[in-house]
Amino acid sequence: MLSFWYKEFPQYPKDHKDFWRTRLIAHSLLITTCYFLVLTLLNLFYFASYEIALIDAFGLFISLGICIWFNKTANVNVASWAVTLMIVSLILMFVISVGGHAHSLFWATLIPPFTFFLVGRNWGSIFSAVAFAICAYLVYLQQQQTVTIGLGSLFNLIEVGLAHILIFRFYEKTRFSAYTRLSIRNLEIQHLAETDKLTGLYNRQKFDFELSQLIAKNDVFKTPHCLLICDIDHFKNINDTYGHLVGDNVLTEFAKILKKRMRNYALIARWGGEEFTIILSNTSLNDGAKQADDLRKYIAENTITNIAFTISIGLATIQKDDTVLKLLERADTALYRAKNNGRNNVCVSDKDSTVIAQSTYLNGSIA
Ligand code: GH3
Ligand code: MG
Ligand code: MG
Repeated sequence: MLSFWYKEFPQYPKDHKDFWRTRLIAHSLLITTCYFLVLTLLNLFYFASYEIALIDAFGLFISLGICIWFNKTANVNVASWAVTLMIVSLILMFVISVGGHAHSLFWATLIPPFTFFLVGRNWGSIFSAVAFAICAYLVYLQQQQTVTIGLGSLFNLIEVGLAHILIFRFYEKTRFSAYTRLSIRNLEIQHLAETDKLTGLYNRQKFDFELSQLIAKNDVFKTPHCLLICDIDHFKNINDTYGHLVGDNVLTEFAKILKKRMRNYALIARWGGEEFTIILSNTSLNDGAKQADDLRKYIAENTITNIAFTISIGLATIQKDDTVLKLLERADTALYRAKNNGRNNVCVSDKDSTVIAQSTYLNGSIA
């Protein structure tokens, strides 16, 4: 509704540290402008106090002037100072003019949160000290008089209370936006810490952590879970023949194929240079061995980025009392055997840690 007043500054987007300062400046200027306008009109037409109306009109002129200038220049620092000086002077002039009576001193309590927010801690402290020194002097002057709470005092209390709520909302909003920014950054940092930059898969650290969490769950043994370690055969030759950048591309495309072709994968990670680890949930060793061999065949029968290569895979299932290390060791021993069997091969480590060639394992288990 007041979009003409609350100008959006492209240089201060919502997550900019000064965004809420621009808003407090606009709010304050709206309040002071309305305040001076009403007082000018009242003094002019109702009370016929022309001198006071002139002072109010001056205040109106200053308030509108700052607003127009701020909207034009977007200079938050200078506008903060202008608004601070105007509001602090206004409060102090009012308090002094009524001699600190009618609980008007409460207005001075607005000075610390307001000035701290707009001109910082050091200047805020100076403004607050000056304001409270003036208040103390006024209290000293009226110490002989009896203190009563009249209607005016009550209004002062209510208005100060409301103003406090408004100003502290700004503190809260600033804090909230800082926290939001911080949590977004934290998520970004966490993502970077857990992800392999080249392939976008989980990295080894994240994989090991997630696997340990999985093993710690009691129900992981109710359905079988398979671990696959998959290694590209003679990958060094690809680098040596085509260069590292092409090698990188092969790794990236291979990661995509893994994600696409492995059914039921719970976790998939780049575990090392050209080694990938996969956890298949609800998958028996038998099923896992079939899936692993399908993948092996697919890679052997197709080219990736026009390069032909093969892979070797070692498999193991999560057993009771397993640890990440024990499980990885079993799968790694199977992989080692697959390599020794001439590569382009799948080997399985059964629950007794006996390593068996996939074809033998499947034949044996089907028979
Ligand atoms: P094997 O069949 O025994 O697995 O032989 P291999 O050549 O695949 O294995 P080896 O461990 O001898 O070499 C792995 C190579 O992977 C060596 C290393 O330069 C390469 N490598 C590791 N990380 C990256 C990477 O991020 N990008 C590229 N292009 N190459 C990598
Ligand atoms: Mg290799
Ligand atoms: Mg390797």
